[in-house]
Amino acid sequence: MRKPFVAGNWKMNTDSRSSVNLAKRIASGSSEVAGHSVSVAVFPPFVYLELVAKALSAFSVAVGAQDVYCESKGAFTGEVSSPMLKDIGCTYVLCGHSERRHVIGETDELINRKVAAAITGGLLPILCVGELLSERDSSQTEQVVARQLKSGLAGLSAEKASAVTIAYEPVWAIGTGRTATPQQAQEVHQLVRNFLAAMYDSQLAQETRILYGGSVKLDNSADLMGQQDIDGLLVGGASLNADDFLAIIRSAA
Ligand code: PEP
Repeated sequence: MRKPFVAGNWKMNTDSRSSVNLAKRIASGSSEVAGHSVSVAVFPPFVYLELVAKALSAFSVAVGAQDVYCESKGAFTGEVSSPMLKDIGCTYVLCGHSERRHVIGETDELINRKVAAAITGGLLPILCVGELLSERDSSQTEQVVARQLKSGLAGLSAEKASAVTIAYEPVWAIGTGRTATPQQAQEVHQLVRNFLAAMYDSQLAQETRILYGGSVKLDNSADLMGQQDIDGLLVGGASLNADDFLAIIRSAA
């Protein structure tokens, strides 16, 4: 059985005070379900990770980073490594979020190196994949998602790949208020699972959690979670409001 997983990506929002307050409200409001019937994680900006990790140390809400570098140490000015993230209490890391791919310009090859480095450093990567609107409109969704998965997981043994969670986030649905319908999302999630089975084996495919992300709100979360291959939600905007995020967690639990 795949335990549902709800992750909140705070992006470049909050400050030192509001990040701790938000984390504490989420942790206390979800204490009956978090860690038992649903995995919950928050992804604050780098500079608040340690503060949030400390605030959550007595709770079952995990902390993750929004990005990581692909080397463990050295002359890489401005970058942050997996061992550093692990050291301050991170469990997860997002790799290849669409804003990193399309705003910052990260390539499939770099994302693959980040996924591998995260696993080596003891973190659990969430590999984000998803097509642009133009790619969906020209029927390239399957091709794009397959390419991103194949390159994102390249060179990983089945054992290492079992540390990875996949997030399907159609770029046209992120921060736009336009959500994929549960059927559209389910279709791609099933493709992802089939792809994992072909690349590895059916056990790995059945055990891997595949999250949906893209304008998830409390009024669509339950329908999305009702789909067979949707195992959780990666929530951006709505994760900045504790009440909304808690309602989404409850709908998934
Ligand atoms: C995200 O940041 O991964 C995301 C899905 O954002 P939003 O929920 O705001 O669309």
